[in-house]
Parts: sequence; C-alpha cells; structure tokens
Amino acid sequence: MKDRYLDFVNSSFGAGFARSIGLPKPEVLRRHRPDRPEFGGIVAIGAGPSPALFDPLIDVLQSIGMTSVAHGSAEGWLPRANRHGAMSGRFEPHRRDSVASDRVEALIFDATGIADSSELGAIYGFFHDALRSVARSGRVVVLGRPPETRADPRAWTAQRALEGMTRSLGKEARGGVSSNLLQVAEGADIEGALRFFLSPRSAYVSGQVIRIEAASVTRPADWSRPLEGRRALVTGAARGIGASIAGVLAALGAHVTGVDVPQASDALDQTMLAIEDQSPSGGAHAALVADIAAPEAPAELAAALLAMGGIDIVVHNAGITRDKTIAKMTKDAWDSVIDINLSAQERIDDALLAQNVLHDGGRIVGVSSISGIAGNLGQTNYATSKAGVIGRVSSMAGVLRARGMTINAVAPGFIETQMTAKIPFAIREAGRRMNSMSQGGQPVDVAETVAWLASPASAGISGQVVRVCGQSLIGA
Ligand code: NAD
Repeated sequence: MKDRYLDFVNSSFGAGFARSIGLPKPEVLRRHRPDRPEFGGIVAIGAGPSPALFDPLIDVLQSIGMTSVAHGSAEGWLPRANRHGAMSGRFEPHRRDSVASDRVEALIFDATGIADSSELGAIYGFFHDALRSVARSGRVVVLGRPPETRADPRAWTAQRALEGMTRSLGKEARGGVSSNLLQVAEGADIEGALRFFLSPRSAYVSGQVIRIEAASVTRPADWSRPLEGRRALVTGAARGIGASIAGVLAALGAHVTGVDVPQASDALDQTMLAIEDQSPSGGAHAALVADIAAPEAPAELAAALLAMGGIDIVVHNAGITRDKTIAKMTKDAWDSVIDINLSAQERIDDALLAQNVLHDGGRIVGVSSISGIAGNLGQTNYATSKAGVIGRVSSMAGVLRARGMTINAVAPGFIETQMTAKIPFAIREAGRRMNSMSQGGQPVDVAETVAWLASPASAGISGQVVRVCGQSLIGA
C-alpha cells in the first residue's frame, strides 16, 4: 500500500508546504538496491575505557570498505588501525556552515569495557559531539556486553544502562537514522550483525538490543550471496511479507519452497515464477499448495521437503487476523488464529525435526508481531498467538543449540501490506506514524531481517526477537 503523505512531503511542492506549516517530514529511507554499493563513506568511532572490540571492528570496516575517523574518546584507535593497514583519521564534528560534505554514515561506540556507572560519561561525550554529524539514513551502533555476564554488579548495571541510551538516540536522531545495541559475549563474532546494522538492509530496524553469543560461525564465501545453496521453506509466500521473504532469500542465493493455501495457489505460482525469473542461477524454486493448519500438513510438508534433499531454513510467516473484542469474538475466530499462527508452527517444526528434514546448523525464523509484545485492542487471539511465537523461540533455542540450529523471531510493527490496508483510515494513519521513522515499513524490511537471521553468519544469535517497527512507540 502507498504512503501518500510520505510521497507528498518529499515532493518539491509538498516539502515547502510541509515546512511552512510545520508538518513532520518522514525520510525516504535508503534501502538496499542491487545497483548501489551496500557500504561506503566514513564511520566515526567512539569508546569507553578498555574497549575490547577494536580489532574485530577494524577488520569488519576494512572488509566492507568503510573508512574510520576516531573521536577523542577512542584512544588507541588510530595506532591500532594503522597496524592493520586501515585508513583512519581524527573525527571533526559537522559544521552547519560547512560546504564540504563532512557527514559520517555511521557512529560506532565500543562500550564493552564500561564497568561502572561513573564511566557512562564517555558515551555522552561521543554522542554529544557526533550525533548531529550523521548523514540521513545513517546508523548508530553501540557495542556492549550481555549485562548478566559481568560478575561485578556495577559493571552489570552500567551495561544495562546502555539500553536506555541507545533507544533514546534512535528517538532523537531523526532523518531515518537507526540506533541499535549489540551485546557481544566474549569470543562472539560480530561481522554478520555489524554488516546488517551498518547496511541499508536494516533501514526499518531501530531501538533494538541484540545479543550475540560465541558460536562456531561459518562466514559466507561471498557476502553478497550468504545463502548460496541453502534450501528454505517460507509459509504464506503468495503475497505480502511472505512473498518478499521468498524473494530476498532467493536473491541471496537460497532455493526457496513457497507454501500457501489452495485459494492463493495462482498468486503463489506467480510469486515463485517471478522469483525464478530473477534468479541468476536458475533458482530451482518450488510452490507447494497446503493449508499449514490441516492435520496432514506436517507429514506432507516433511515428505515433500525430504524428497528435495531436506532444508536449511524454515520461515513461519503465514498468519491471519480475525479481530474482535473478546466479548464479541467467536470461538472459531479464537481457535483459527491460535491454530494457524502458533500451533501449526509447532506441529510443523516437530515433524521437520523428528525426521531430520531440517539439517543440522539449520535456521528457524518465526514471524511474530508487536501486538504480541504490547497487546492490542480487538486482538486478544492474534496477540496471544504472536506472544506464543516469542515463547516458542525462547523455549526452543536451548534445545536446538546442540544441533547447531538457531531459532529467532521477527516482530513487525506497521508494515504496508494488504493486511494493514484493511485497518480503518484513522487507526491506520496513527499506526503508521507512531514510530521514530514516522512511517510504515515495507515487506522487504521484514524480509531483510529474516534473511540476516537465516544467514550462516548469524550462528551466535538465537532465542531472540528482533522488532522491525521503525522503533514503534507501541510496546516500546
Ligand atoms: P497477508 O495476509 O498479506 O499474507 C499472509 C499469507 O499467509 C497469505 O498469502 C495467506 O494466504 C497465507 N496463509 C494464511 N493462512 C494460511 C494457512 N493456513 N496455510 C498457508 N498459508 C496461509 O499478511 P502479511 O501482512 O504479509 O503478514 C505476514 C505475516 O506477518 C503474518 O504472520 C502476520 O501476522 C505478520 N505481521 C504482519 C504485520 C503487518 O503490518 N502487515 C505486522 C505484524 C506481523
């Protein structure tokens, strides 16, 4: 669905009109485009005392071709960057009267060594000096430690404090700038997550706290096709977010099997054919017609996927809404939403795991919703099912770890699809604007996040919920 307001205020007439009467002007977010380089420009680095991640950070910046400049707080960055042979200089804040383009694309602050609340001033110093220097659609990434891994209560406290800072920066930054906190366990590999959070692929992900554990990570041979040769199952793939997930996974190299109900079989065929046409290597994608909630669906899906040689990625995207306040809701509306959105996922996973259809090292991604985090009027059934998806991810992560598998959820906020087009105008407009980006997300924003979680490089991320909501105020 089109956001006419966003188009209007970004037209030459609309921009002037909006400015003259003080209307907000949502940024046209920079998203991934295959004809544009994914990374470029300058990153400003800041740090607290004893930063632990300078070396891996320099390596990642070198591998993505970004140049760094060091803020005064990042003592030791310049000599270390020089030792790695990386280009680096000193950070100069953006000047309003500057004619030169002195904006930076990203700000990264290494807060891993902050061990006491009295040391949090370093993070103030960096962002006080640097936040105004970030370019439109720029990125803020704070690197910390999982608080409970700090033995000293003061260090735990200080690390937990970073969440408030990072989330507030997302609300202050504007201009489509995102702000996220990566809690990096000792020995964890940061490359996959940093690439995602520095790239336009994370355009609508802000205010998130992501935990990265130490895990055996296989880095892709080609970062532009990290899913090369992987087989993926995407439910509800005929349209909307599911179609976009199927398309992004395929563009990143996966062979995708899309599933949808018999009523959507034509749309599913068209979606999968369009993906096939765009696949440089011929793709080998498939369309499977099935109601995932049918009793026979788990066994049938397992058999069909086994015949293809098994799979590496499962994306539980199919979902429905049947909204009514609980007093007016029929039992059937309750049952069908819980069954399709939650119980069917459990049954399908059980079948795929029991028969080893999902290979070791596999990835499961469930599509939850911010309704499942915050609750929503008229959505007791939907919010229950989506909160259950989050419960499933937390409860299964430990079980799957032994097989090198991960399970995560994405929780979309307001995404422009046929599902949200059905919402009455006033509620739709409120849902669309009540976030730090002042706009709804696109299906591709959810798809890119799913693809990142499904990547081999995301082995250290499991049991988590990543909101794709432009930092929605709902459930924040
Ligand atoms: P959509 O209605 O456009 O697409 C859902 C797809 O799932 C359809 O193709 C539908 O036929 C399929 N499906 C439904 N029941 C099925 C079943 N029993 N078996 C197989 N396929 C089935 O919805 P969407 O907006 O693309 O949403 C996709 C997912 O994202 C859903 O789980 C939804 O709850 C979630 N979500 C969407 C939003 C949003 O703003 N659009 C926000 C939060 C979460």
